[in-house]
Formats: sequence, C-alpha cells, structure tokens
Amino acid sequence: MRAPAKINLHLGVGAPRPDGFHPLTTVYQAVGLYDDLTAADSDTWRIELDAADYIEPTDVPLDGDNIVDRAADLLAAHHGLARLGDVQITKAIPVAGGLAGGSADAAAALVALDRLWAAQTTDEDLLGLAAQLGSDVPFALLGGTALGTGRGELVEPVADPGTWWWVVVPSATGLSTPEVYRHFDRLFPDAPADPPPADVLLAALAAHDPLLLAAALHNDLQAAAFDLRPDLETLIERGESEGALRGMVTGSGPTCVFLCESPDHARSVAGALDDPDHPVILVTNGPVAGAHVVEYV
Ligand code: ATP
Repeated sequence: MRAPAKINLHLGVGAPRPDGFHPLTTVYQAVGLYDDLTAADSDTWRIELDAADYIEPTDVPLDGDNIVDRAADLLAAHHGLARLGDVQITKAIPVAGGLAGGSADAAAALVALDRLWAAQTTDEDLLGLAAQLGSDVPFALLGGTALGTGRGELVEPVADPGTWWWVVVPSATGLSTPEVYRHFDRLFPDAPADPPPADVLLAALAAHDPLLLAAALHNDLQAAAFDLRPDLETLIERGESEGALRGMVTGSGPTCVFLCESPDHARSVAGALDDPDHPVILVTNGPVAGAHVVEYV
C-alpha cells in the first residue's frame, strides 16, 4: 500500500468543544510524498520500520503506541478476528511534521489488513474506523483535495482541476500538535465557536489560478507555531523573497510549504532555500490519490 502526506491549504480553527477537540474547517490536499506499507501473512504480529535517511527511526514507536498497531487492533476487533501479520512501514514522510505521516500509515494499514484478512470492510465502516484512529485518517483514505469539518474527520471531495507545485521544507525537530493547539488557546481565548469558512480558498481552487490560491492560503495555527518556533517565520520570509508565490506553515507545523508556479519555479525556490539548517527540501505536487494498493504479491 502507498499513502500520501497531506498539507492544509485552509485551516480554520474554532474555540475548543466540550469534548476538548477544536472544531475545524480545513481544506486538505494530498501531495506526492508517501509512506509505503507492506502486510504479509504470519502466525504472529510484528511491525518493522525502514526509514528514509532523513528520519530518526527512534522517533517512531514500534510498540502499541504505533498508530498501525492501533489500526490493526481496531479492525481485528471490528470483525472479531485475531490480529496476525508481518507489517513493514517504509517511511518517507517526516515525523511530527504536520504532514499526517502517522495518519497515512493508519489508512494504509486499514486497507492492507482488510485485504490480508479478507475482511471485506465496507467503505463506510473503513471511514468510521479511520475517524476513531485520528482526525486526519479519513482524509488519508480519500486523498485528492477535500473539505474537512467536525474535528477534520468528516471529509468530502472538492473540485480541484489541474496540478499545484509545492516546495516542502521539513524541520529537523518536530512540533507537538497538542502543544500548538494549547498555545493557540492562549493566544486566542476569544476564538469563535464556528471556525472561519474556506469559501475563498475553494473558489481559488476551482478557478485554478495560482495567484488567487496564493492569496487565499490560510492557517489559524501559524501564529502559534511562529511563537513556539520563530525560525519558521524567518524561513517563510526567505522563501517568499526568493520568489515563492506564498509560504505557509502546514497544519500544526513545523513543516513549511511554498506554492510555486511550475516544476522549474519550485526547483529554483528549493535550490535557493538549501542550507545546512534545511538539509531536506522536497519538490512535490498535488492533488494525488489517497491510500492505494501498489502491488499484490
Ligand atoms: P498529527 O498532526 O496528526 O499529530 P504529524 O504529521 O504532526 O501528525 P506524525 O508524523 O503523524 O505527526 O507523528 C506524530 C507522533 O505520532 C509521532 O511523534 C510518533 O511518536 C507517533 N507515531 C505513532 N505511530 C506513528 C507512525 N506510524 N508514524 C509516525 N509517527 C507515529
């Protein structure tokens, strides 16, 4: 299975709900940066990790804290099955980067284990299990570009003709999503109950106009991420002065994304940002497909 990272083109955040979650209006886009997951028959249960050289393997737990482990538990319990299989995660999505790499793995695991166990879970049940695992997991199943509401788990595809080019700049150290939300609450104690809508962003996508999209990109968590990590603001200013149409923190950060006009433009911005503080700079595009089977063996 292959599952993509996501970026948030619009992330509107409201005041915390009684259950502690923040209501979101978000527009997700799946981009061409992937984790792969292989599931094979076994009479035991095991997870192994093969990480890209820019990922610190110890950042990914391999015990019950791995979201793939939780996905397997949930799917097995849903069908009353024993949890058996050898799972290998081949990780290229930076960890704790606001790119939902764990959610991608969870979505890939749900589909892979459903096939491995011949469980024939309906799409509706898969989306329900995905939502229990995390707010971003249903989108990792869906892919493309989608509007997310609720706490992000209610997803519907949106019109997004054409291709957008992005420079993605991960950070050597992660940012904790709960910590960024806590800081958002401190900065904005009067946040509205209803998060800001995504209408302007959706209109820019439908028009497929890069300048309109650049102006419409929006992230309510960016101020909190800047406060916790002032280097991110400097990076975004640098990317924009090097010609990116717009730079933005994605999700809760610390990954920053830069919208560019073309593959050549993206490569030139990526080259200009290359320095010892940012050893990994990726050029990618979106939207791409959600979790999908690459090969049956
Ligand atoms: P989110 O915004 O959903 O928290 P993120 O992209 O910022 O996502 P992830 O890469 O999903 O962050 O990882 C968040 C934390 O989840 C990691 O710090 C790690 O401890 C834990 N984790 C559990 N399983 C995985 C996995 N399969 N891949 C990556 N991290 C995992």
